[in-house]
Amino acid sequence: MTEASSSGDGQAASAGDGQAAGAPGVDSHGQEFFVPGGHGTAFVARAGQLVEIVDVEGQQVADFVAFAERNRTEWLSTTHTRSSVLRLTVQAGDRLDSNWRRPMFEILRDDVGRNDIITSMCDDRRYRLDYGVEGHRSCRTNFTEALEPWGIAEWQIPDPFNFFQNAPIHPDRTFGNEIPTGRPGDKLVLRTLMDSIVSVSACPQDLNPCNAFHPSPLRIRVLDAPADPS
Ligand SMILES: [Zn+2]
Repeated sequence: MTEASSSGDGQAASAGDGQAAGAPGVDSHGQEFFVPGGHGTAFVARAGQLVEIVDVEGQQVADFVAFAERNRTEWLSTTHTRSSVLRLTVQAGDRLDSNWRRPMFEILRDDVGRNDIITSMCDDRRYRLDYGVEGHRSCRTNFTEALEPWGIAEWQIPDPFNFFQNAPIHPDRTFGNEIPTGRPGDKLVLRTLMDSIVSVSACPQDLNPCNAFHPSPLRIRVLDAPADPS
């Protein structure tokens, strides 16, 4: 497991139920997770609940993946969302689609206004091949560890939504990788539209501007939804 701490009690693994609904995180009401910089966590969010992701210190990217709880062959898809919103990023008001073209989340609030749905998550190959660093934590490692209790393997993890990531798209269609603009306490709030297994990684990248060279914490809350979150 990751070192992410949780005030919830849904992180204990259950054995032997494979694809069945009701793996870890069964009682997901009012969960709160503090995710240290460079680490990750996973939880269940029920349809109708809000998932609030807070950039605690600012300038931190939150890599985000999700699977339908009842069928792990359905997952949150950047490709299908791009095709749906006809845009190379996502913003407040957008619905985020699954690979089966069903809406899984809606962005209700986006304080930072910078999200990347183009680039891959970091992984140990990235650090080894591009930076010559062995054993560096990565978003893929974080997701793999956090999703293990649900029986989701590394190869099954889809491309992430990189919330708060500052990857501006230039007129010549190249894109950048710049220091995020998130301020301390900025948040993104999603309405969950389908019972989902969610994993979030406070990206460990400290060798380029992605997290301002200093990975920092995220705070995540899963809330029963008021009509108008603020
Ligand atoms: Zn990363």
